[in-house]
Amino acid sequence: MAPRIYTSDSPAIPLTKTSVFTRLFAPRAAGDIGGFPADKPAFVDPSGATLTRAQLRDISLALGYGILNHPALASQRGETVLLHSPNCLAYPVVVFGCISAGLRCTLANSGYVTQELAHQYQDSGANVIFTSEEGVKTVRAMFAELGISKAEGDKRTVVINRDLRWAGGSAAAAVSGCAGMVTFAELLTMGALQKEENFDGLLADETTFLCYSSGTTGKPKGVETTHTNMVSILDIVGPSWPRLPPGQETILGFLPMYHMYSLAFIVHLPFTLGWQVLVQPKFDPIQFCASIEKFRVALALIVPPILVVLARHPAVDQYDVSSLQYMLSGAAPLAGDLVKQVQLRLSTRRADGARCKITQSYGLTETTTSTHFLPFDGADRKMGSIGPVVANVEARIVVDEDGNVDAADGAPGELWVRGKAVMKAYLNNTAATEQAFTGDGWFKTGDVVVRDSDGCFYIVDRKKELIKYRGFQVPPAELESVLLTHPDIADAAVIGVESAAEATELPRAYVVHAHPHNLPTPDARRAFANGVAKWMESKVAKHKFLRGGVRVIDVIPKSPTGKILRRELRTLAKQETVAR
Ligand code: AMP
Repeated sequence: MAPRIYTSDSPAIPLTKTSVFTRLFAPRAAGDIGGFPADKPAFVDPSGATLTRAQLRDISLALGYGILNHPALASQRGETVLLHSPNCLAYPVVVFGCISAGLRCTLANSGYVTQELAHQYQDSGANVIFTSEEGVKTVRAMFAELGISKAEGDKRTVVINRDLRWAGGSAAAAVSGCAGMVTFAELLTMGALQKEENFDGLLADETTFLCYSSGTTGKPKGVETTHTNMVSILDIVGPSWPRLPPGQETILGFLPMYHMYSLAFIVHLPFTLGWQVLVQPKFDPIQFCASIEKFRVALALIVPPILVVLARHPAVDQYDVSSLQYMLSGAAPLAGDLVKQVQLRLSTRRADGARCKITQSYGLTETTTSTHFLPFDGADRKMGSIGPVVANVEARIVVDEDGNVDAADGAPGELWVRGKAVMKAYLNNTAATEQAFTGDGWFKTGDVVVRDSDGCFYIVDRKKELIKYRGFQVPPAELESVLLTHPDIADAAVIGVESAAEATELPRAYVVHAHPHNLPTPDARRAFANGVAKWMESKVAKHKFLRGGVRVIDVIPKSPTGKILRRELRTLAKQETVAR
């Protein structure tokens, strides 16, 4: 039987095969940049420092030239640069500078500990790293971990000036404590590329980004995102974004730019619409409300736990947040009642009592964000749904492993998707790529969905191991391998437990003690468990801390083939909650 394939009701969008740089910066009419005036602000920071569209293009081309020609870096088209920095004005400059020079960009969490960063640097094949001043210590430790001398490591490290305070003028002195490293200013004063590297036509299928995702199983893998993938998502999703009147075209950009959701929707998409992004290094409720007041922000990209804060935090009453008309949530499940609470609260802050339109989109790093998008208009009627399939994407809901059986109407199944924005492959990992794709190009998301009679999809379960803490990926296999290096742990398994209060999952470990007779009392077990949770805090980035607790058990449930039976542990976790 032919498979049941779901598509969008909207007409297909003609997609272009061009480089990301060309898609963003090529003039549409004389003197403009990407269809908007060259002097329009593109990125601003809370201090008011601004990068116009022309500055962003020119500085990126200068940076591209510097990376290719600086004697210590001397990079070549196709090589990989790792970017390790919190959000800042310099972030898009590094991204577009690398792309203009034909380099691949791998984006790492700025909170990574040494081993996590070393894994990504090595696995991605990077040979240059851009870091912020705060990141220098970790980068030096990473090179030491990889057996690369300090002198050699320093030569491969560029320290970025986060606020671009040198921009347009004098080259700032080397950042203190970073002697031997390459400075941003040095790279920017060497010259400039006349033009970006060409990736038109078939070349658009070359990889340009390597974000990391664990996929359905195992440790983080490099996701090969091509120029075509990124350009397609901009063309596909752009029309679903609201149209903002001139003067109100500001979006808040605090979600970490290393994550695909923010990379596509903060670093790229607003630029294609001619908006400005207010760049912030992280979410802070007071900054959030103060910035909305100061910059008259109309749209914020969020993850669900932010709504928990907005439902309660006093800052919402202390600042004028009436300009906020839209919020787009992604990366994790969004609960309808939370949306209603926030809408109600925000509407009391407006003279006209109008509701803030809050909706959500669904997608993965591997699909370059959205495969589903619930339109802003009418979102309230379908709250909790991820919406219909977006244009140009095909979807299936599959019941069996091989894709021979489709789910009946309204019944659950694994979501499979196909389209131009789906990644090329997992980097250097044929086994994982083959596991993720079928022979005819369907990508298996690992999420379980149902579809209603209006064509709206709902996420109802997750087949894959992945845990999401506040939208961040927490791969259980990675935490388990760290736990197994603890001298007193004989076996370990990690699952996610729901926290309704925080609107997120929390990672919880179940561990088996190597010498159980050393833990004769419940108090001894508790003390050991607490010690393990504390110990993990020195081993992994903050979002992977075992906030869901550590439990000592006698044996980890496993299948005859040795696979951890996570469902049994989830049931156990539920029983523990009920028993308390
Ligand atoms: P990432 O690659 O980090 O973006 O993670 C992708 C995963 O996040 C998906 O496979 C889902 O499990 C989850 N996810 C993303 N968006 C949503 C959403 N709107 N609702 C529920 N889960 C989501």
